Amino acid sequence: MASVEEVGLHDHLEWDTPLYRTAIAQFDQAIPYANVPVDIAERLRYPERAFIVSCPVRLDDGRRVVFPGYRVQHSSVLGPTKGGVRFDQEVTLGECAALAVWMTWKCALLRLPYGGAKGGVRCNPRAMSQGELERLTRRFTSELLPIIGPQVDIAAPDMATNAQTMAWMMDTYSMQRGFAVPEIVTGKPISIGGSVFRHEATGAGVVMVIARACERLEWKLAEQRCVVQGFGNVGGIAAQELVERGATVLAVSDVSGGVYDPAGLDIPTMSAFAKANGSLEGWATGQRISNEELLELECDILVLAAREDQITGENASRLRCRLIAEGANGPTSLAGDAILRERAIPILPDILTNAGGVTVSYFEWVQDLGRLFWNRDEIRAKLAEKLNDAFDRVWEIAGEREVTLRTAALVAGIRDVSEALTARGLYP
Ligand code: NAD
Repeated sequence: MASVEEVGLHDHLEWDTPLYRTAIAQFDQAIPYANVPVDIAERLRYPERAFIVSCPVRLDDGRRVVFPGYRVQHSSVLGPTKGGVRFDQEVTLGECAALAVWMTWKCALLRLPYGGAKGGVRCNPRAMSQGELERLTRRFTSELLPIIGPQVDIAAPDMATNAQTMAWMMDTYSMQRGFAVPEIVTGKPISIGGSVFRHEATGAGVVMVIARACERLEWKLAEQRCVVQGFGNVGGIAAQELVERGATVLAVSDVSGGVYDPAGLDIPTMSAFAKANGSLEGWATGQRISNEELLELECDILVLAAREDQITGENASRLRCRLIAEGANGPTSLAGDAILRERAIPILPDILTNAGGVTVSYFEWVQDLGRLFWNRDEIRAKLAEKLNDAFDRVWEIAGEREVTLRTAALVAGIRDVSEALTARGLYP
């Protein structure tokens, strides 16, 4: 009989990139604690489907440019796949695959009936007009029509995409069907079936998780000095929520660099400035610092809310925080993770900490399907309940198994997906 190696050659898979390898290495670290049968683990190491498209778009000056786009669906075991769409110059198939894998564990950890997906278009959204972005979004959505649907794969905003992007996706899909299908995307404007509180959900969820961690660590959140990397949807709202709970935000940053004031920053005014100007570029108060310097500031809580791969083997030994909260996806590399584990700096892992977004997205989808809408307080309370429940399960596994919070969160998510796949069986 031929060996497994002889029948299946798994080298050089198209999505094999450093980020994907990080996602799989984390999976492998969690497997021994999650009781996953070998054949089930092997299936979960690969996305079910990876789709590459090219989108021709007419620019405002009449030229046409073709943009590469991707959608990766990792697992449909628990339900439709769910995940963000990003517009960024670094989007690749491998990046989408890694993010889709993390989405699967995140949805399972929060006990949402979804699997993970991720997609995006490689482009420079900051150099594009609204009209160009609209044409790109509509063409990308059209290209995805064969593989998306409210019971198949549901998109949401991510880096450089927002409620308007989701409105264009929803409209493009609905035009093909001949009637309004709000449940095809989440994170859309409230006027077309979006959910109140979705915009704030990820950033507010980050702070709910930090607050729960502070309770367990017996720290007073109001006494913590915080640094926030990334001042977009996640970082901007998280900074705001931290200030509202009495914490001090010493520094924030975005692509234009960082701003530092040891006495604390005026976050509401800075948010209004960043909203009006597109970034913190030109913000005059406080000390200007680089993103590298910001990460190494002395503080209690470092919130990573920009992008992946920020804490690495190179800088992890220089961090001077007591706790890290991952608002972004994959902001800590494997080497960075190992150093922080050694230094006993706890990390509130991405799949738990930023899960507020997908949880309120799930609430939005449920409301759209039922055509019955909830109010802000109901949503906030249901979100806190779900995040606290997930946090407590993660904390318990970490204590029992003596593993990091990241491994514990992965174990909780992977275990549920594995049990479901075992019950369903590997088709055919
Ligand atoms: P966003 O585009 O609204 O904000 C990103 C922010 O990071 C911007 O302020 C940008 O200037 C800044 N940034 C980009 N590169 C940077 C760098 N090298 N150094 C410092 N700052 C940098 O995007 P977002 O929705 O806030 O997403 C941020 C992260 O959170 C991503 O990893 C995303 O996948 C993750 N996330 C977002 C959501 C959501 O609901 N929006 C949910 C879960 C996870």
